[in-house]
Formats: sequence, C-alpha cells, structure tokens
Amino acid sequence: MKTVFVVGAGPAGLYASNKLAQAGHQVVLFNRDLKPGGLAEYGIYPVKEKMKSGLRKQFGKILSQPNLHYLGNVPVSKDRAVTLDVLREFAPTALVCAVGAQGTKKLGLEGEDSLGVYSAKDFVYHYNLLPPFSSQDFSTGKRVAIVGMGNVMVDIARWLLIDDPDRKTEEVIVVARRGPFEAKFDHKEFDHIEMFLDCKAFQDELERVKGNLDSVGQDISKLGEATFPVLAKPAQETPGPRLRFSFLTSPQAIHAGAENFVQKPWDNARLLASVRTHIELARALRRGAWQVQAGRIEIRQRAGIRLHRHCFRVRLDLHGDRLGQQPVHNL
Ligand SMILES: Cc1cc2nc3c(=O)[nH]c(=O)nc-3n(C[C@H](O)[C@H](O)[C@H](O)COP(=O)(O)OP(=O)(O)OC[C@H]3O[C@@H](n4cnc5c(N)ncnc54)[C@H](O)[C@@H]3O)c2cc1C
Repeated sequence: MKTVFVVGAGPAGLYASNKLAQAGHQVVLFNRDLKPGGLAEYGIYPVKEKMKSGLRKQFGKILSQPNLHYLGNVPVSKDRAVTLDVLREFAPTALVCAVGAQGTKKLGLEGEDSLGVYSAKDFVYHYNLLPPFSSQDFSTGKRVAIVGMGNVMVDIARWLLIDDPDRKTEEVIVVARRGPFEAKFDHKEFDHIEMFLDCKAFQDELERVKGNLDSVGQDISKLGEATFPVLAKPAQETPGPRLRFSFLTSPQAIHAGAENFVQKPWDNARLLASVRTHIELARALRRGAWQVQAGRIEIRQRAGIRLHRHCFRVRLDLHGDRLGQQPVHNL
C-alpha cells in the first residue's frame, strides 16, 4: 500500500483520488476551498440544484472511502503555510497536482484594470458564494457589457437579468468577436434569457453584419435553425431589461470615469450638451432657480425664468469638474 498526495479537489482531483483509493492506496486530498468539487461546486449556475446535488452525491461517495482523507481549506502554495516542499517532506509515493485553471486571462486593453471590470471566473465565484470572492465588491451598473458568447456569458447574463437580488441591470450587451453563426452557447441555456432579446436591435445588428456573413456564404435566414432558435418564435415585446448583441466586434479599450469606474465614453454630442448644461447651471444658480435634493442639484424652469427648454437633473461628479446630465422631461 502506497501513500499518494493529491492537491485540488475539483472533478479532476476527485476522480484521480477515486481511482487511487480504489486501487488500495492511501490518498490524502488537499483542497484550497472548504467544500470539494471545484468549479462543479462553484461554477455551475446557482439554481441548477439537480445537477449540483447529483455531483455532490458522487463526490460524497468518493470521499467516504476509508483510505481517502479529505483536508479542505488547505491552499498549497509557496506563500502559504503548506508548500509543495512541506508535502514532499512526508515522502509520499506520488504527488498529483489537479488545481484547475485558476488564472484569469487579460485582454491586454487600456483601462482593463478599471473598477467594474471583472473576470467571468471571479464574477461566477462571487455569485456562487466562494470565499473570498463572495464578500468582495462585484457591483455593476445599469448597462453591462459581457465579452464572449458561450455558456458562461449566458450564466452571467441570466444572473444580471433575473437572479441577482440587487438587480439593477437595464441592458446587457454581448460583445462577440465572431458572428451570429458562431455563437457557442447551448440552445437550452439561452432559453432562460431569450425573452430579454431586443428583437429590433438584433435585426438591426444582423443587417449591419449581413455583408460580412454573405461574403463567407452564411445565410441570415438560416440563423434560426442554426444558433438562435428564438428567431423562429413569434416576437414578444416584454417590458424590462434588454439583451443586445454586438457581432464581429472586439473591444479596443475600456473607458473609466472620474472614480476610475468603467463608464461609457463621452461622445461629442454629450460633451456639447454638458457644456450647455454648465452654462444653464451657472445661470440658474445666479437666479436662484435651483434646489438640492439628496445630493442632486435640480434646476427647474420657473415662472419668470425662461432659460431652459428642458428640465435637467444635473449630477456633479466627485471631482466637480464634469457634469453628467439627463433631461428629465420636457416642460
Ligand atoms: C464559469 C464556469 C462554468 C462552468 N459550468 C460547467 C457546467 O455547467 N458543466 C460542465 O460540465 N462544466 C462546466 N464548466 C467546466 C468545468 O467546471 C471544468 O472543466 C472542471 O471543473 C475542471 O475541473 P478541475 O478539477 O480540473 O478544476 P477545478 O474545477 O477548477 O478544481 C480545482 C480545485 O483545485 C483547488 N485548488 C486550486 N488551487 C489550489 C491550491 N493552490 N491548493 C489546493 N487546492 C487548490 C480548488 O479549490 C478546486 O477545488 C464550467 C467552467 C466555468 C469556468
């Protein structure tokens, strides 16, 4: 009988341990996370209880073998108490490392380190309650871009559009380097979010890329049976958040605002509107036609003051050097 150390109790480490234990060896399994299962525990979408419980049952059976010893919450790392050298001191016959793909892949874009830019893996860990990600800030705004077009994108969009208890998403934009025929998600998964698809925007987007699709012999009329069965169903206009796609698109940079939080870049029209608002704000302040409400300054057109065609809700950013403005309603 030999002793084998296995590091990592995801599906790979667990099934390796199972084979070794069944062969009669003593197996000691070290895992960074408290619970075994790796991404099968912390990657699978939270409401897929049936799948999760089926896997947990299998893992529980593996771990119940008397010659298999599970040690959770034990990261093996050169900067932690238990290093590979420490494990080698115990002279196991073999040391198996099955720690999964833990790194995050960077896109190498300017602004990628801005606040509000998250790796999908970390975001998934957060909503699947894996410490320390579970207690870290993964807040999002009203508009969220997801780069990529596979099942993980669908899971994240589903969370943002449906299950997030703090849901404030009004629009999810899927940024896909490839075209609509190369969508990699399963139809069954997409069913969960298809009701949010902005059909008009989707048709406009197909029109935009039609030339490229034609040039490689892809026929848009076949898209329904290929990757987007939702197109074959009668279009429904459901109120609420929207799901949009931007095909054949690669992000070039990520823009951040004054607090280094990711934000939509200022376009010229918006900048001009902002300058106009500055002037109107200055005039309104001079004439006393303003009020402060919960951190917002609101300018209202009042009798005798005919400076504004619109009523603006004006937001001063923290540095006070830029104004965001949004017409509230026409007066
Ligand atoms: C978001 C997401 C969703 C997915 N959903 C599905 C799905 O629905 N169905 C499906 O079949 N596949 C899915 N996959 C793929 C599947 O989860 C992986 O292929 C599988 O989990 C890989 O198994 P693994 O054991 O190699 O690694 P992992 O599952 O990553 O397990 C690695 C284990 O090693 C431990 N570990 C890491 N570092 C250390 C260390 N230094 N010391 C000790 N222990 C360590 C971790 O705690 C973890 O338990 C998904 C993947 C992702 C990213």
